Amino acid sequence: MKSGKRIMRHKWKIIFLLSVLSFLVLDNPEFFIQYSTKTNQRSQSIGSVSNGSLTNGIRLPYRGRNYKYFSKLSYYILNRAYANAKVYNTVIGAYKECEATCPHIFFRLMECSNKNGGRLFPHRTHQNGLSVDFMTPLIKNKKQYNTLDIIGIWRYLVNTNEHGQVTHHIKIDFDSVAKHILALDNAARQNGLRIKKVILKTNLKDELFKTQSGQALKQRGIYFVKHLSKTINDLHDDHYHIDFQEI
Ligand SMILES: [Zn+2]
Repeated sequence: MKSGKRIMRHKWKIIFLLSVLSFLVLDNPEFFIQYSTKTNQRSQSIGSVSNGSLTNGIRLPYRGRNYKYFSKLSYYILNRAYANAKVYNTVIGAYKECEATCPHIFFRLMECSNKNGGRLFPHRTHQNGLSVDFMTPLIKNKKQYNTLDIIGIWRYLVNTNEHGQVTHHIKIDFDSVAKHILALDNAARQNGLRIKKVILKTNLKDELFKTQSGQALKQRGIYFVKHLSKTINDLHDDHYHIDFQEI
């Protein structure tokens, strides 16, 4: 009996140690996986964002200095953080620029594509490695408000009013959104891409273009989708969706 109890205790110790280890690996993959800041890998985006596939895609980093992927489930289990290598370099390059232009903002990257592209339920696009979702950063009393950023895939369900307010005090940080899109546009041009379209809830565009960086963004003439069905429109307040195009 005694040796049986000892074996059980031993087993629990092993289970506990394995759990701690897997938690450490999952939460801090950058210590175990070397993510490059730029890749020379070539990918092929086939077809369109709404009917296509991806060959030789590359998984975006789980975390960088000023950003993190939003969900372990989406990243590790569902494997939805793949993109064309040019998009990889663009996303990383843009976050690098944001270290200088909005140093106090921590960004969250949302769903990209499957390893080989194809359908990515429930998204209609994201099929060929050229679509990326970015979480809208929030502010409260002029400081970034992070509490709603750590709820993983549930973040897609956060709603705002037509002024981008989640509550009276918490609202979308439109100036940082504009700075990030400007940085993505700069980085895209350096990596053989252009921003084909941005999807943001249409009634939030006025708030975005009202900010100082928003005015610069408006002058760039980047295309924001003007008409969306009510369902699609309502979904794009907690994130902005960007389709890139190879040039
Ligand atoms: Zn999307």
